Amino acid sequence: MMKILVCISNVPDTTTKITFTDNNTQFNTNGVQFILNPYDEIALARAIELTDGGKGSVTVINVGEVNTEATIRKALAIGATDAVRINAKPHDAWYVAYQVAEHIKANPFDLILTGRESIDYNGSKVAGMLGELLDIPSVSIIKKLDVTDAEATVEREIEGGKEVITIPFPFVAGCAEGVAEPKIPNMRGIMSARTKPLAVVEPVEVQTLSEIISYETPAPRGQVNLVSADDPAKLVELLHTQARVI
Ligand SMILES: Cc1cc2nc3c(=O)[nH]c(=O)nc-3n(C[C@H](O)[C@H](O)[C@H](O)COP(=O)(O)OP(=O)(O)OC[C@H]3O[C@@H](n4cnc5c(N)ncnc54)[C@H](O)[C@@H]3O)c2cc1C
Repeated sequence: MMKILVCISNVPDTTTKITFTDNNTQFNTNGVQFILNPYDEIALARAIELTDGGKGSVTVINVGEVNTEATIRKALAIGATDAVRINAKPHDAWYVAYQVAEHIKANPFDLILTGRESIDYNGSKVAGMLGELLDIPSVSIIKKLDVTDAEATVEREIEGGKEVITIPFPFVAGCAEGVAEPKIPNMRGIMSARTKPLAVVEPVEVQTLSEIISYETPAPRGQVNLVSADDPAKLVELLHTQARVI
């Protein structure tokens, strides 16, 4: 029986308008719609495929406050067996990885999957940190994941080709597009998600290693110059005098 842990992050929907509070040191969550991180949906879908038909179990874990439970229930509706929420504000990737690693030390898993990155802070850090904290291998940005009884084979895309790696269990992998197609929860999943176990555990003490000094949004886009299709000379002139690319 394979035990898989999928780390899930609760992230703002991609259409969110980003603003900051507290003198530009905090992301303003007011009115923001949160979703399950899309790469974590991919990891979760593959975990469910690998354990389908009673071959194992899939636990999802999130470091977050009570407001992340809607996202956790979505993961349960998609097909996770049970869930753990570490009841804390996820200060940064180190904080998240440390909390998850402590949980894994007390509750071992054969395979630990994360997304390739969270789409909010885009750190791509949690998987590597987990490997280090647990002293097990970790592999980033995988595009394919197959398992046998003894080991797994993963594929990574590299410049001009692909890399195929075999890894013994347990290990950590950050999943990207290609690993699986995200699954849409069905009505049965949604109903059963309400009663699936969701354990809330308190965080351990972690030394804070980072502090946000300030966030800035990008400068507003410049004015757009529309050039008529009948006037290519004007386009060339603007590319030369304004854009200065030719
Ligand atoms: C209100 C609020 C404020 C925050 N402020 C900050 C901040 O100022 N700076 C900051 O860096 N982060 C902040 N976070 C946390 C942030 O959302 C991430 O959880 C954390 O920083 C890791 O992000 P990353 O980009 O390094 O993760 P990555 O390393 O890119 O994430 C890779 C994978 O790690 C897993 N993962 C990431 N986050 C979690 C999680 N919370 N629980 C379980 N698994 C997870 C997922 O599988 C994800 O796909 C805040 C969160 C909240 C709710």
